[in-house]
Amino acid sequence: MANGCTEPACTTATATATFRFYAELNDFLAPQRRGREFACRCARAASAKHMIEALGVPHTEVELVLVDGESVRFDHALRDGDRVSVYPKFEAFDVTPLLRVRDRALRETRFVADAHLGGLAHLLRMTGFDTLYDNGFRDDEIERIAAAEGRIVLTRDRDLLKRRGVTHGCYVRALRSELQLREVFDRLDLTGSARPFTRCLSCNTPLRGVDKAQVVARLPPGVRVRHERFAVCDGCARVFWEGSHWRRMRARVDALLAPAS
Ligand SMILES: [Zn+2]
Repeated sequence: MANGCTEPACTTATATATFRFYAELNDFLAPQRRGREFACRCARAASAKHMIEALGVPHTEVELVLVDGESVRFDHALRDGDRVSVYPKFEAFDVTPLLRVRDRALRETRFVADAHLGGLAHLLRMTGFDTLYDNGFRDDEIERIAAAEGRIVLTRDRDLLKRRGVTHGCYVRALRSELQLREVFDRLDLTGSARPFTRCLSCNTPLRGVDKAQVVARLPPGVRVRHERFAVCDGCARVFWEGSHWRRMRARVDALLAPAS
């Protein structure tokens, strides 16, 4: 029943395990393996993590692995006859009583976005989330930053999520930045944690409220007359006020944070 398994890990097969992936994890599988149980031969003592990734699913997408109904860690060595059930993060059933694959909670809300997700990074900053982004970031830099600073990697590159140093990641499916933000918010349940306009869009530094007197010398004359509330960025020294540009961004953020109808 293991016919057709061509994964590199299977060339020295000594055990056959049965796999079933749930919900959106199926998107990563070959079409004939989606939404059903299938058997796959595994190398001797292949780990659950190794086989899951060999089948195409980045480990960062996985929250819970059950083997014969018992939750196991990623390094669990698979044996002949194991039945492996693999669940994504935040699947809609309560996994809290079960031991998950990681020691640390996944709901960190600090991000590092890959070089193709500048629009999403901008919107995350606009809604108050600490998001590192630079269109010159290489994959190894993103891996290093994520590991050193405990950041969730945002990417549409599943190979980036397979890197060893990346423990927390989110594979972004949507192509447009507004839809990407909605996807990340829904998946990580972020809407209640949004703090719009508390972070610099240019450099990601938290903004700090200041008295008008401290910045008045730097303001255009019209702004001096019309506005009383100001904030500064200690990272890049910009001054912000709630002018027409801010009101347009406010309308955009309100639309993004509104419940989907
Ligand atoms: Zn700044």
